[in-house]
Amino acid sequence: MPIPDSSMPNPTRIFASRLLRLYLTSVAVFALADVVAVPAAAQQRVGSPQDGRPSDPPRLRRNVRNVLGGVPMTDVDSMHQRVVALLDFDSYKELVRGLTQFGDREQGTPRNAAAVDWIEEQLRGWGYETERLHYMYTPRAGRGAPSPQPEPREEVYATKIGTTNPGEMYIVSAHMDGRGGGEAANDDASGTALVMEIARSLASPEVESDMSIRFALWNNEETGLNGAGAYVEQRAELQGIENPAGSGQYPEPRWLGMIQHDMMMWDHGNPVTFNQALDADVDVEFQLNSAFAEQSAQLGIALINANRMHATDYPAVLSNAMSNTDSTPFMDVVPAVSLRENRRLYETGNGANPHWHQPTDLFETFTDADFTLGLNAAQTTLGAIAKLAGIRIE
Ligand SMILES: [Zn+2]
Repeated sequence: MPIPDSSMPNPTRIFASRLLRLYLTSVAVFALADVVAVPAAAQQRVGSPQDGRPSDPPRLRRNVRNVLGGVPMTDVDSMHQRVVALLDFDSYKELVRGLTQFGDREQGTPRNAAAVDWIEEQLRGWGYETERLHYMYTPRAGRGAPSPQPEPREEVYATKIGTTNPGEMYIVSAHMDGRGGGEAANDDASGTALVMEIARSLASPEVESDMSIRFALWNNEETGLNGAGAYVEQRAELQGIENPAGSGQYPEPRWLGMIQHDMMMWDHGNPVTFNQALDADVDVEFQLNSAFAEQSAQLGIALINANRMHATDYPAVLSNAMSNTDSTPFMDVVPAVSLRENRRLYETGNGANPHWHQPTDLFETFTDADFTLGLNAAQTTLGAIAKLAGIRIE
């Protein structure tokens, strides 16, 4: 007779686990609702993000802005809030799902190449012209094996061209490759989908931007930031050059700032708990030990302000040890920050995400509360970019 396997899911266990999750969620929501209840008039003052939102995330609202103290909003801020409201929870989630259909998208595999094609297809479908950066990557030598030869790799980017300053741009980015044998849902479909959802939101012709905005989906992050590194190497010197002369076209607009997104959904505390921690937040990091540390901190403050003004559920904090992500090759050339679910060195590096590079980094691992953290990071970045790049909506 086979021994019953206690690790096998059975209907009772699944039901019990769902019931527990539901209970914990409602306890947390009601507890917060009690603490932070504010008059309706006060909520109105900072604007109502529900207005015009195509699909709201489930009710996880923590009234973060009111807890922290709202920031006064100008008419321009209110218009930017309408821009941020173009972000759609279901669309974000569907983009994560779309990316996870290719598995972990490990560099050099057919599933990675298929994912690059798929990303490009989506961007084109929204009306963008896309471009590809071609570079060579040399795989690491196996033990005792002869040195591998360099192999060609590709990554895709698209640009919202500025109407008044097309020759200057912000780079909004994430890495599309992953590892771990699962679906690399959190690392980094969550960031890739965030960048794509911002691109989708800004695609419509009634949204205009003074400055250009480039959406870059790096490859080969997991092997050592090779895709982002290749971009800096190939394109830094092309910045701000009009080509052909007199055409008004700038193949590489001058870089004003770079905002990277890498692992966006999971902040369950450490030791890890079942749900998002009550102090879950968006971590904005700059690197104190970089040539543009002060300007990068300013860029970080712009993001913190945008979060307080535009994010619906989760706050953001700024810290100074940005590391191990694609903003690193940029940080001595241009103000650069990264957004994450956790601080990379102190939290992620100390076990804050048990799914990191694991076969369990699957679409189905994450709840709507997790996806909502990713959406809040998107609100944070789009709110900041709207102000910095001068985005308008008619
Ligand atoms: Zn990553």
